[in-house]
Amino acid sequence: MDYPLVVGNWKMNLEFGEAMILSGQVARNSEFIKHIEIVIAPPSVFIYPIFERLKIKPNNFHLALQNISTDISGEFTGEVSPAMIKKVCDYTIIGHSERRRLFHETDEDVNLKVKNALKFGLKIIVCIGEAEKFHLEDHYAVEVKRMLKPGGIVAQAKLALKNVNKSDYPKISIAYEPLWAIGTGNASTGSYAAAIAYILRNELVAEFGPAAKDIRILYGGSVNVGDAKEFVLQPNIDGLLVGGASLKIKDFTEICRITSELKSGMPTED
Ligand code: PEP
Repeated sequence: MDYPLVVGNWKMNLEFGEAMILSGQVARNSEFIKHIEIVIAPPSVFIYPIFERLKIKPNNFHLALQNISTDISGEFTGEVSPAMIKKVCDYTIIGHSERRRLFHETDEDVNLKVKNALKFGLKIIVCIGEAEKFHLEDHYAVEVKRMLKPGGIVAQAKLALKNVNKSDYPKISIAYEPLWAIGTGNASTGSYAAAIAYILRNELVAEFGPAAKDIRILYGGSVNVGDAKEFVLQPNIDGLLVGGASLKIKDFTEICRITSELKSGMPTED
C-alpha cells in the first residue's frame, strides 16, 4: 500500500486570491511532512491557475477534482472530464455525499465515474457513508446486514468498484464519511470508525480477493486537530478526508503532521 493520504476538500469555498494563497501554503508545508501524500481539492475553476502558479510542487503534494464526469466529451453542460484535467490533477473525489444527496448521483453513476477516471490514469477517492449511526455494540450482526443491503455502505463500496481491474486497486481510496458527522462538528469516535473500517476491509477482500488489501480506507467527517489522532491510530484507517478544517492552514498542516508521525512512527522535519 502507498503512503497514508490526507485530502482537503475545499468544496465551494474561497475566493480566487484566497485559494492561491492557501494552495501555496499547503504545497510549501507538504515539503516538510514526509511519509504521507497530501491532496487538496479546490473548486475546479481554480485548479489550472493553482497548478500554473505553484512554484514548489513537492512530490507528495497533489491536486484533486471534487467531482468528475461519467463521460469524456460532448453535451454535458457544466461537467469536467478526466481527459481535460489529467495533466494537472492526480486525483478526483467521486460520490461525495453532497453529490449523492443534492445532485442525485446514484451508485451506478459513481461506478461509471470511477471507471472513467481510472481510464485516464487518475487516482480516486470514493465516498461512502450512512445517514444513521450504526449500533454495533448492541446489534453487530443486524447492523452488518444493513451495511450489505442496497444503499448500505458495503453495498455502496462494492458497486463503486464493480468491474474495476484489480491492477487499479492501489489507485483507489474509499472514504468512509458518515453523513451524521460531515459538517456537524460531531465526528465519529476512533473505535466506531475502526469497527466500520474493519468490516469494510473484510467485505472488500471477500468480494474482490486479497488484492483489495491495496485499497486505502480513509475516515472523513468533522475531523479536526483534536481528534485526528484517534482516527489515524486505527490499523485499518489509512488516512483522512478533511472538509472544514482543510480551509485553515494551521489546522490542516497539523492534521497532516499528526497523520505522518503516527502512521510512520517518525517525527516530521521542521
Ligand atoms: C467532507 O465533506 O468531506 C467533510 C469531511 O467535511 P467536514 O470535515 O467539514 O465534516
